[in-house]
This record gives sequence, C-alpha cells and structure tokens, in this order.
Amino acid sequence: MAKWVYMFTEGNATMRNLLGGKGCNLAEMTNLGLPVPQGFTITTEACTQYYEDGEKINDEIMEQIMDSIVKMEEITGKKFGDKENPLLVSVRSGARASMPGMMDTILNLGLNEEVVNILAEKSGNPRWAWDCYRRFIQMYSDVVMEVGKKYFEELIDKMKEEKGVTQDVDLTAEDLKVLAGQFKAEYKKMIGEDFPTDPKKQLIGAIKAVFRSWDNPRANVYRRDNDIPYSWGTAVNVQMMAFGNMGDTSGTGVAFTRDPATGEKKLMGEFLMNAQGEDVVAGVRTPQKIAQLQEVMPEVYKQFVDICHTLEDHYRDMQDMEFTIEDRKLYMLQTRNGKRTAQAALKIACDLVDEGMITEEKAVAMVDPRNLDTLLHPQFDAAALKAAVPVGRALGASPGAACGKIVFTADDAKAWDARGEKIVLVRLETSPEDIEGMKAAQGILTVRGGMTSHAAVVARGMGTCCVSGCGDIAMDEANKKFILAGKEYHEGDAISLDGSTGNIYDGIIPTVDATIAGEFGRIMGWADKYRTMKVRTNADTPEDAKKARELGAEGIGLCRTEHMFFAGDRIDAFREMICSDTVEEREKALEKILPVQQKDFEELYEALEGNPVTIRFLDPPLHEFVPTEEEDIKKLADTQGKTVEQIKTIIDSLHEFNPMMGHRGCRLAVTYPEIAKMQTKAVIRAAINVQKAHADWEVNPEIMIPLIGDIKELKFVKKIVVETADAEIAAAESDLKYQVGTMIEVPRAALTADEIAKEADFFCFGTNDLTQMTFGFSRDDAGKFLESYYDAKIFESDPFAKLDQTGVGKLMEMAVELGKPVNPKLHVGICGEHGGDPSSVEFCNTLGLDYVSCSPFRVPIARLAAAQAAIRSRED
Ligand code: PEP
Ligand code: MG
Repeated sequence: MAKWVYMFTEGNATMRNLLGGKGCNLAEMTNLGLPVPQGFTITTEACTQYYEDGEKINDEIMEQIMDSIVKMEEITGKKFGDKENPLLVSVRSGARASMPGMMDTILNLGLNEEVVNILAEKSGNPRWAWDCYRRFIQMYSDVVMEVGKKYFEELIDKMKEEKGVTQDVDLTAEDLKVLAGQFKAEYKKMIGEDFPTDPKKQLIGAIKAVFRSWDNPRANVYRRDNDIPYSWGTAVNVQMMAFGNMGDTSGTGVAFTRDPATGEKKLMGEFLMNAQGEDVVAGVRTPQKIAQLQEVMPEVYKQFVDICHTLEDHYRDMQDMEFTIEDRKLYMLQTRNGKRTAQAALKIACDLVDEGMITEEKAVAMVDPRNLDTLLHPQFDAAALKAAVPVGRALGASPGAACGKIVFTADDAKAWDARGEKIVLVRLETSPEDIEGMKAAQGILTVRGGMTSHAAVVARGMGTCCVSGCGDIAMDEANKKFILAGKEYHEGDAISLDGSTGNIYDGIIPTVDATIAGEFGRIMGWADKYRTMKVRTNADTPEDAKKARELGAEGIGLCRTEHMFFAGDRIDAFREMICSDTVEEREKALEKILPVQQKDFEELYEALEGNPVTIRFLDPPLHEFVPTEEEDIKKLADTQGKTVEQIKTIIDSLHEFNPMMGHRGCRLAVTYPEIAKMQTKAVIRAAINVQKAHADWEVNPEIMIPLIGDIKELKFVKKIVVETADAEIAAAESDLKYQVGTMIEVPRAALTADEIAKEADFFCFGTNDLTQMTFGFSRDDAGKFLESYYDAKIFESDPFAKLDQTGVGKLMEMAVELGKPVNPKLHVGICGEHGGDPSSVEFCNTLGLDYVSCSPFRVPIARLAAAQAAIRSRED
C-alpha cells in the first residue's frame, strides 16, 4: 500500500518533493528538537491522486488521514471531536516551492458551538474561545465554501462601529459570540445549509479546499511566473493549533534571520500580541518590531533568537519563520529559505561565503537569475533624488525606483499597463487577488501593513518596488483619491517611490541606468569562473552592443541587419531597390546603402573589441519595407521615374497571405543575390578596416544565413558570399578570416543537419522561428489563444518564452548530434528569445552548445543561469 501521509516525526528536509517545503521543514525542525506543534503531512502525491481520481480523496488516503489523527491524539493527549478536551488543528498548504499567499489556510478547525461553549467556560477565557470560533467560520466559509471574505469583514466593521472601537482586539467575548452567530447566518444564507458541526466533515472539506487551491487562478499565474510545474501538486499539513490569541501573554509573528530587502545580517520581523497568524501578514493591524519582543517577553525572545541561529546554521541560508506564543510558550510553525530581493540575494550569498558557511559554487547556485532583472533596471538619478523632498515616508519593503501614474485597483493597473502607461498601484492593503495588477505596476504603495504584509512579500518575490504601511495617507479608495502631505492625489497623477528608503515623492524623478558593481560583480565573477558556455548578445546598434559588453557579453550572437535598413534615408534607397525593374537599377540603389551599412558594422566591431560578431543577412519579407503613406509612395515614384500606379502595383505584388512562411530569409538572397553581395561587401570591408586599426584584435566576422531548410539554399547563398568576400580580401591584400554559418530555425534544417553541417562553419538555433514552425503557431498571434491553452492545462508556459524541450528541444538535439560528427569544428549557439531564459539556458548546456545569445539586459541572467547549469551538471 502506498504511503500518503507522514507524521512530522517520520519526515526530514530531503523529502521536499513528497512533503512540500513546509512539511519537510516541520519534520526537520521536529528532528532538531525544536518546539513544533505536532501533526502530519498529506503528500503532494496525494494531491495529484486527488485530481486523478476526479477531485476525490480515495479510501486509502482517507484511511491514512484518519489513522494519523489518532496518532496526533496520542501525541497531544487531546481528542478530535471531543467536547471536553478537543484537538483543534490548522490545515495549511505547502508545495515543493514556496508560493506565499497563493494557496489557502484554515485555523481552529474542529470547533462547533457546543465545544466553544465548553471551552469558553473551562478555559476561563471566553473571548479567546469565541475569537477562535468566529475566525474559523470566516476562514472555512471563505476557503472551503468560497463565500468571500468581504461579507464577514463588513459584519466586523459594523460591530466595531456599533461598539465604538477601532481594533478587532477591542471586541469582547460577547461581541464575538454575536458575530459568530451572524457569520453562521450569513453562511446559511449564501450556501443554503447550516455551518458544519462535525469536525471530520470540516477536516475533509478543508483538505479538499487546500488541494483545490493548487488550481486557483492566482496560484496558476504565480506558477507560470515562477516556472513551477502544475504536476508537482501541493502537500497539506494538519497540525495541532497553538493559540496566539489567548490574551496578552500570547501572540504570533514572522521573522527573517536577515533583512529580506537589503540582506543585512540582523534579525528582522514583526509580531502581534493576542492575534492569530493571518493578522500579521494581512496587514490589517500594524505589528510591532521583533526587537520589542525582548521587552514584552525576554525569555521567549532569547529562546527565539537561539532557534534562529540554530536554523540558519542548519540550513546555511536566510530563514523566514513563523511562530506563535501560547501563554508564554514558544512554538515554531514554519521555517523556509526566505524570499528576498535580488539585492538581498546577492549580499546574503556573498556574506555566507565570507562567513565560511557556503562555497562560491553554492553562492552562485542560490541566486535566482530571474531576479537579477530588477537590478538591471534604471535607478533614481542620485543628484535628482537628493534634491527632491519626500512627501511621505513608509517602509522600504521592496527596493527599486518606481515612477508612474497613480491607479487604485488591480484591474485598472492591468488596463493602464496594457495601453503602455507606467503606473504605481496605491492600495489600502493588497490581497492575493491583486497579483496581476501588482505585476503590471512599476511600484506598489500601501497604506497598511508591515515588512511581512502580503504586498511586501509578493512585491519582493516579483522584484517590484514596494513601499508599505504609509499611515499618513488618508485614503478614499471608493472615489479613487487620497490625501498625503496636504495634497489631494487622483488617478493619473504622477508619483515616485523609492523602495529602498521608503520615501514617496510627488511627480517623476529622473532615473539612470544600472551598473554591475559590488556584490553583483562578485557573484558574476564567480559565475564566469564556473560556467562553460559563452554568453553573447543580440545587438543591432553600437549602443546596445556597448551596453551588452558592460554587462559581460562575450560577442554578438545575432545582429539583425534589417534593423539597419529602416533608419534615416536608407529606407528610401532600400525602397528604390525593391521597386527596381532591372538588376542594374537594384545594384545602384544598393550602392547607396553599402557605405552606411559598412559604417554600422565598423562601429559594431569597435564596440566588441575583437570578440566575435555574427551578422545575420536580411531576413524579413520585403513588404515590411514598402511605403504605406500616399506621400511616401509619390516620393518613391518620382525618384524611380515611375507612376504612382506602377509603384502601387509593385507593392500589391509583394502582398503575402502568410508572410512568416513567405518570401523572407535566404529566399530573399536567392531572388535578389545583389542584396547578399552588398551585405558581404559591407561586412568584409568593415572588418578589414577595423582589423587594420587594431592589430591586437582578432576581427573575425561570422556571416549567418537565415531560414535555411535545404542544403542547396545554403550552397547557393554561400557561393555568393565566398566569391564576394574573397574578392574583397584579395583586393585589400588582407588575410582576414571569416566564417559562413546558418541559423537552424526551419525544422527541415534540423532534420538534415548532417548535410547542412558540411557547408556551415556554425549553427545558431533561431528558436523563435523553430518554435513557430515546429508547433505551426504564428509567433505574432499565438498570444491570442495561449490563455485558453493555460486554462485547459495544455500548456503551462509560453513556448516562445520558455523552450519546449520535448519537441523543439528534440530537433535541437538532433541537429547537434547530426551536425557535429560531420564537422568537428562546427560551433553551435542559440539566439532565439530562449537564450535569456534560465531553464532554456540549462537545456542548452545539456546539449553542449558553445554559447547562448540574448538581449543586452539578459546577459547577466544568462551568465548566472549558465553557471548554475554547469554546477548542476557536475553534481549529477
Ligand atoms: C529566431 O527565429 O529565433 C531568430 C533569432 O530570428 P528572428 O527572431 O529575427 O526571426
Ligand atoms: Mg528567425
């Protein structure tokens, strides 16, 4: 019989895949002898089985759950469903990778009216008993029955108003009892039946709800953004309750062993007395700083600090912990490697190396490459920032510089972002439903909540700037306005946030580009030491090339030359070329472009300082270049000595029903060899000139022919290139070396790579087109139906962003295996968008590619991902 349920005493930290992060760490803390309320974990496999069984918990799993409840009863001396001595439990999710706030939790399960009455009397603490019950009804109704929180919150607000109090804690036992009654009535109204009294029924409902929450929309979005496969499932942890809401000797909190925003080594955290877990993270009451616990309960504080040391030493990473104090006794409810900003990740990794806790390789492995993106975005201009006067200040919860127009709802954030506006989302507090709006925003500002509030945790995870807990804001969410420092701000007004200091500024503060220095530089240095693949960049302008060099690019893997035809008056000459009737006319037009293009290449070689530069010949269909405005058509007709009608006829003749599969790539060179000739001349002349000027560089241009599907296509274009290049080199009496290679972006090229490799000095996978043509999805239109594919669980991610290793990857593997034996000197890279995606980079490492090439700002991400891939492949 399969084992679906593990007591905490049966697990350990290595069982993450089966027990989830929370479950395996609860087991590990139990093994370490730490005070953990005992319980059990239902495995992630049980979750997968639940879905396989048609959203049912099968008898075998059910039996093991009930057996484990009996074991819990033996350990705790309490009885599930007992009136006098009831075992009350929490039910929490816990996937392999932590997904803060994305799934559901239910506390105080096992209560009903009869039990509460007895508990209220026996404990001498009726307020606690009724507080637990009203919370349970609220959470159960929301999570299990999906009634929605707001109805209950409205009832609480009404009660507080009636009683003339502002805080939940000021409500009396009697108030809470009345509320519990109102909640149950609300439940009955919404669901049509009484609130369940049977603890077993409650438990099953709660476990199913946690399994279901794996598939809720926000969890699906989070998984997609964080590369977490749906197939993993979530575990469920059932744990004896420890009560933080028993009065002033109880409380609950969360803490980090290092600052998750900056990485500084100091205990950071927050707690609330007389509260339960959700109160701290929900940001409804502003909590106290963890250091104040030393004054409130010195012994508990000391014990907690000791535990923090034990855990950090044990896991050798920054820990994020949840704890509860029940009547002066400390309980640990969770520990995990804490989510952190990119800046903190780099500092913590370097500090741990300096403290002798981890190796350089481990440091490289522990930084998430995707997070680096935030560090590469512009920062505030230091002088402008110094001159600016903040209009408010709150907690710098997630660093970064955010400037934009104010919006007040997550939906507005999405809508404004979709039309290209930069926005700052201002909310009273955020909730998990806001995640997509938070993603769309440059920055997030909240009125309530601390460093561990939902907004702070999620923003840090996403690398979005966040300033939280600005109590000075007088918010009017309903009318989309707020007052701060005497000024009324409305939707669309500009605001700037500094996520490091927590400062808020009126208007837009200028920003400057980021640089790689300090800890960032150190980690990048280590990454370069351990990686085996090179990292190049996709750049078409000297500016991009220089930026990429600064960020560590070791060459250009793709220069899309078509981008050079659009600028200035080149487009005129190019249009003349397209609309020519004879070869001579065409050559005359191309002659005008040649010197300009040559200059472009010279600047690129200069920027690359002797590193390889791959120049891809003209690729897109010609109709992209023809004029559309009447005025431009007329101008072209005049220059060509043709009528407007004649030009329009040519333009019409260029129309294609399926341009992505049409007259583009090498097909253009086959039709118009003059273009390939001109481009070859420009590449070679530029290289000769730059080589002359820099004798110590090795200028070695790589000419890349796009969209080859048949060896004969390559042979045809290569002949033109070689004849032209050799003539240029001979005429200049130079000994310049050059290479001719091809993109592998048509499936037929991959399938016949053994033939193609005979003619090619290199292959470069154009996985944008290869994905398009392997799936038969238009790369320009797939976005229109991908959402439905995600909903239907056909795809978990966009194959144009994250490489489809199974299909497209198989073609790549085949091309490498067929090509290399035929041409041992063949070098192979990738230059599709996937070259900057960490999981795709790892795949390329497995295939033994020589380099990945990506856009300039992704270069550091690719360097780190390549190092991680190399380290992991050595470990396997
Ligand atoms: C590709 O197809 O992957 C590629 C890099 O070329 P382009 O995007 O220019 O078609
Ligand atoms: Mg392509």
